Amino acid sequence: MIPYGRQDINGEDIEAVVRVLRSDYLTQGPEIEGFEKETSLFCGAPHAIAVNSATSALHMACAALGVGQGDLVWTSPNSFTASANCARYCGADVGFVDIGDDLNMDPSDLAARLTRARAAGRLPKVVIPVDFAGRSCRMGEIRALAEEYGFAIVEDASHAIGGTLGGAPVGGHGLADITVFSFHPVKIITSGEGGMAVTHNAELAQRMRLFRTHGITRDPAQMTSEPDGPWYYQQIELGFNYRITDLQAALGRSQLRRINAFVERRREVRYAYDTALSKSDLGLPPPDEGCRSALHLYPVRVPACLAGGRDAVFARLREAGLGVNVHYIPIHTQPYYQALGFRWGDFPKSESYYREAISLPMYAAITPEQLGTVIETVLTAVAPR
Ligand SMILES: *Cc1c(COP(=O)(O)O)cnc(C)c1O
Repeated sequence: MIPYGRQDINGEDIEAVVRVLRSDYLTQGPEIEGFEKETSLFCGAPHAIAVNSATSALHMACAALGVGQGDLVWTSPNSFTASANCARYCGADVGFVDIGDDLNMDPSDLAARLTRARAAGRLPKVVIPVDFAGRSCRMGEIRALAEEYGFAIVEDASHAIGGTLGGAPVGGHGLADITVFSFHPVKIITSGEGGMAVTHNAELAQRMRLFRTHGITRDPAQMTSEPDGPWYYQQIELGFNYRITDLQAALGRSQLRRINAFVERRREVRYAYDTALSKSDLGLPPPDEGCRSALHLYPVRVPACLAGGRDAVFARLREAGLGVNVHYIPIHTQPYYQALGFRWGDFPKSESYYREAISLPMYAAITPEQLGTVIETVLTAVAPR
């Protein structure tokens, strides 16, 4: 089976993890700070907080922004459910903004919903645009709306580390208050499980650090009284244990050294697909506009009239040994969200996209032979029959 995504692990990655295994610290050691510093430098954001998943990072970001009971958080239905769940963890209500032709949150739908929300007296506190497939959202327009309506932006860049927007790295362009990355093995770089939040805001960074470790501080400046002694710590808020291990951070650091090569290889794969599949009737992913996608996914659209439609084509590809997948089942259609009042039909563009989407294999470690096999298999599966 050729999967839709997978990690690329080399000898240096393995040695980096083994070095930690032989060291004094399996967790809470020097690798975590190293991973944070290097990611911070890479993406040009002064503060980076590493955690055990992007899901934790999204929760931590919402908590740092003060999201709580009675608040409203909006995201895109075309995402993994974690983009919405983070608001629910904080007790907030979730809303969605439909996608545009770039498959990301549509700033005009956002603007229309904000107008109605202001009239209804219930504006979102936080909006979470998702850089679908690694392609940046129209962040400038979303930032302008944030200034007008007073919400904060958490950019879910789980797909997008290594990409750029307007020439600036994702995470460093300064249009989001907090940017979140995922290091799950199918993402651009991996730490096994892992995530990171980056920000330009020192206060948000400090709150996120507290939240990552139980709400505990060892910094006397943050304490309510003089420390009892050198052993002393204080829990000043309620946090979680969201720490990443040094084993994972060492892997993430080692992977970060190759991130540009990974993204470059993904761009070669996209070029091969674009060239070969433009001869077919498949809908190809939107081209980059003003950004450089990190290309986490290569999602094609199968129109209902083509070769029996998406479901038939999907079945043929799986039978032929391609581990294709579908991104995403619109979040609002999940039973958990339907129980909160959402329905099929609420976000029609995300829903029609879902009905046509197939993610083809897209990862740096794909071999030229595998790439050839995928192209041939896909062209056969969508050929007139
Ligand atoms: C993968 C992913 C997440 C969750 O990442 P984890 O590191 O697995 O928790 C969140 N949002 C999006 C858009 C993702 O693709």
